[in-house]
Amino acid sequence: MEHLVRSCYKQGGYVFAKKAANLVGDGRVARLASNENPESPSPVAIEAAKDAVLTANRYPDERVDVLVSALSAYYGDYNFVAGVGMDGVIETLMRTLVDPGNTVAVASPTFSFYGIAAQAQGAKVIAVRRRPDFSVDTDVLIREGRDAKIVVLCTPNNPTGNSTSFDDVQRILDGIGGVLFLDNAYVEFSGTDYLPLMRKYENLVIGRTFSKVHSLAGLRIGYAFVPVWLQPFYLRAGTPFTVNAVSAAAAAAALTDRAHAERYIAQVIVWRKKFSTDLKFPVLPSDANFVMVDVRPFTSDEVVEKLAAKGVLVRSCRSFTGLADHYIRVSIGEDWENERLIRELNAL
Ligand code: PMP
Repeated sequence: MEHLVRSCYKQGGYVFAKKAANLVGDGRVARLASNENPESPSPVAIEAAKDAVLTANRYPDERVDVLVSALSAYYGDYNFVAGVGMDGVIETLMRTLVDPGNTVAVASPTFSFYGIAAQAQGAKVIAVRRRPDFSVDTDVLIREGRDAKIVVLCTPNNPTGNSTSFDDVQRILDGIGGVLFLDNAYVEFSGTDYLPLMRKYENLVIGRTFSKVHSLAGLRIGYAFVPVWLQPFYLRAGTPFTVNAVSAAAAAAALTDRAHAERYIAQVIVWRKKFSTDLKFPVLPSDANFVMVDVRPFTSDEVVEKLAAKGVLVRSCRSFTGLADHYIRVSIGEDWENERLIRELNAL
């Protein structure tokens, strides 16, 4: 019966990070493959989640008001939408805007789910190459993305770690005819704030997530700043009641615990620098909570396997289209995890 499956799902799909490693020495695995905050969620988020479970017999609020109100209190007067992770936001945005045959242009190499979600709507996906140093050539992106329904730009970029400047983003917004989806999953770890652009452009959507700095990856909750015209259509296109009440309550509460987020941001800043000085392999400059490491003469998968055998999980970058097969991505974890990574990678 497999002939019934859509051709776009006959192969491909999202490639997940390796999940199993040898339990060495103390029996702990250093989990540095998925860019998560190694600390448990904030106690206030956990309390809010527990409270929300008590009324889980009821459907959640379809507009996710508890979170939208918390986001407004935190950021000020913007229009927000929420989703099941930023992945859910990306999926609903594609559903809202993309007709079969439309073009979606993606500054690549980058996170793979944009292309997967766009193809699910029948889009033609154009991977617009970044420069060899992974910076974005705005002229090329504008030229190739001019007729696209959506142009996607991840900044700081996964997996390369570099940012696109505020001015370059503005230039792209001025030059394209469709919507720019700016993926800011890692923006809390960078020095750049793109939000002023929301006030100026009607074609900008900025995606964010609670999976990284806020320690809520397992609750699957993300959101976006959207222009006012888009909001009702996004709500119409979305799966009904898609964001559950427990996740929404936890996320709203997490925003109030700034110290929790700031602890991890401080950890990231210290260890990004340490990775670049202490690793014997070249480390690319990063504005995110991970670094990309050039592991030549080894291949990506070779290093992932060797490190897993030593109790360290990192991400192979082999599945990132357009990237040479000799990079790994290493998240910043707790001290002992980062120390083990340095020791084992340098011992290769
Ligand atoms: N965008 C980027 C760049 C990411 O790295 C991730 C997480 N892998 C996501 C979006 C999705 O995040 P979420 O967990 O909120 O779905």
